Amino acid sequence: MDTQAVKDKFKRMRAAYQHLFLGSLELLELDALFWTEKLLLKLVYLLSQKRIQGLNALLSHELTEDENINLRANMLEAQASAALGGHQLGEWEELEDNEGFQATCSACGGSLFVSDSTLYSILADTCPAQTRGSLDNEW
Ligand SMILES: [Zn+2]
Repeated sequence: MDTQAVKDKFKRMRAAYQHLFLGSLELLELDALFWTEKLLLKLVYLLSQKRIQGLNALLSHELTEDENINLRANMLEAQASAALGGHQLGEWEELEDNEGFQATCSACGGSLFVSDSTLYSILADTCPAQTRGSLDNEW
């Protein structure tokens, strides 16, 4: 997938999450629901809010001409899947052997590795720190 296709995919994801965000907010404000349904809607509300923030951060990065397209596409893919799992990735750091880049989640300590040909993640699907924190603190 080239960089433009990756960005288009993120834009569609962001639009879908914006619908979920607004829809869950609207239903919660109507406040005429069973508590189980409310709980689900609160999860959708929280999740979509975080996804929109993550995708906004990804999409605000502008490509420069001389960047390696494959490497950048892999970085974007890796950042998106990490953000979708609630991970908080730090800056990409070049590996010493010059074979790619690594980024680490500041919440759980998991890492991602990318090069122009590979993408390797040892992150959990959902960041353990992030999930626990949002449910405890915000609701
Ligand atoms: Zn994490």
